[in-house]
Amino acid sequence: MTASPIQRHRTVSVRIGDIGVGGDEPIRVQSMTNTDTADVEATVTQCAELARAGSELVRVTVNNESAAAAVPRIRERLDAMGVGVPLIGDFHFNGHRLLSDYPACAEALAKYRINPGNVGRGEKRDSQFATMIEIACRYDRPVRIGVNWGSLDPDLVVRMMDANAKSAAPKEAEAIMREAMVESAVGSALRAEELGLPRDHIILSCKMSGVQDLVAVYRMLAARSDHALHLGLTEAGMGSKGIVASTAALAVLLQEGIGDTIRISLTPAPGESRTREVVVGQEILQTMGLRSFAPMVTACPGCGRTTSTVFQELAEEIQTYLREQMPVWRETHPGVETMQVAVMGCVVNGPGESKHANIGISLPGTGEQPSAPVYIDGQKVTTLKGAGIAERFKQMVDEYVAERYRGEGPRA
Ligand code: SF4
Repeated sequence: MTASPIQRHRTVSVRIGDIGVGGDEPIRVQSMTNTDTADVEATVTQCAELARAGSELVRVTVNNESAAAAVPRIRERLDAMGVGVPLIGDFHFNGHRLLSDYPACAEALAKYRINPGNVGRGEKRDSQFATMIEIACRYDRPVRIGVNWGSLDPDLVVRMMDANAKSAAPKEAEAIMREAMVESAVGSALRAEELGLPRDHIILSCKMSGVQDLVAVYRMLAARSDHALHLGLTEAGMGSKGIVASTAALAVLLQEGIGDTIRISLTPAPGESRTREVVVGQEILQTMGLRSFAPMVTACPGCGRTTSTVFQELAEEIQTYLREQMPVWRETHPGVETMQVAVMGCVVNGPGESKHANIGISLPGTGEQPSAPVYIDGQKVTTLKGAGIAERFKQMVDEYVAERYRGEGPRA
C-alpha cells in the first residue's frame, strides 16, 4: 500500500487496556453488542465473535444491576477463552449508582462511556457526573464523553438558545444545536479535568444521524480540542443505507485527519451477524489506505460480456475465504492483510487489473476461449482450464500466501 497522504489531527493518546487510541496510534475499529448484558453466555459469545472479526474494543450496555453484576463474569469468561478485547461500559441515567454499587464492574471495564445529556437533571447532573469521574480516577480508567444528538443536555440547549435570541445577530437554531453538541463535549471534558481526570484519559464524541451535521460538528470539535476523537454516525440505519451514510460522513472526516477510533452503527437485519459493523469499519479504513486488515479482492462489476455467474461466485467465494483465514493468517502470515487479489470477468480489463494485483485471475467472458489466465506479481504464470478453476485458483492463493508472507510462525 502506498503511504497515506493524510495528515492526522493531533490528539492526546489514551490507553484503554492494552490498546492505544489517538496520538500516533492507528485508527481503531470498535463495536457494540446487542445482547442483554445480564445474559452472560450470549454476551460472551458475541464479544468473542466481534473480537475475532477484528473489533479492537467492544462496548456493552450497563443499564441495570443485573448487567453490572454480569460484567465481571463476562470479563472472566473472555479472559479464560483468551479473548483480551477491552470492554467498555455504556452508561446512561444510573451509571453513577451502578459504578458505585458494583465495584467489580468498575474494575472489569477498561473504559466508561458517559453521556453528559443523560447523567441527570438540574443539581443532580453535576454531582452524578462527578461521581462517575471520581470512580474513573479511582480505578485509573479513561472515559468517553459521548454526546448524542438524540439526548443532548436540554438545559444547555435552552441556555444557548436564550443567549442566541438576545444576541445582536442571532444564528439559525440548527447552528446553535451544533454548537451545543460541541459545547457539551468540550465543557464536560473540562469539568472532568477539573475533577482530576487526566487529559490522556478522555475521549470525545458528538454523534449525529445527519451526514452534514456530523461533518460540521466534528470539524468544530477538532478545531476546539486535542482530545482523542471517536467517530460514528449514530442511528445510521440498515443495509446499504447505513453503510453508505456512515461511509459518506466518516470518509470526509478521516480524509481531513479527524478521528482516532470509529464505530459503524448498523442496524442488523434479523439473524444477521453483528460483525458486519466491524467489517464495514475495517473496509472504510482499508479502502482509504489508512490501515490494512484483510486481503482485498478487486472484482469487476460484470456486464453483458459475462453471461454466467462463475466470476461473481468466485469473487465472493475468494473474499469470504480470505476473511475466514485472517484469524490464523494474522498470526502465521504477517503482512498478508495488504495482499490484493483480482477476480475479473473477461479479457477487456481482466489481464490488466490482474497484473496490478498480487495474484489475479481473468475469467473467460462470453464467446472467449474457456480458459482463465492467472497472474502473479504482474506475470502470467499459468492458464486454468476446464472444471475446478475456482478450487485451483484458491489453491494458488494459498500457495502464494505461504510463500510470500512466511512470518515466523504463530506467536506464543
Ligand atoms: S472486465 Fe469484462 S466483464 Fe468485467 S465489467 Fe469489464 S468488460 Fe465487463
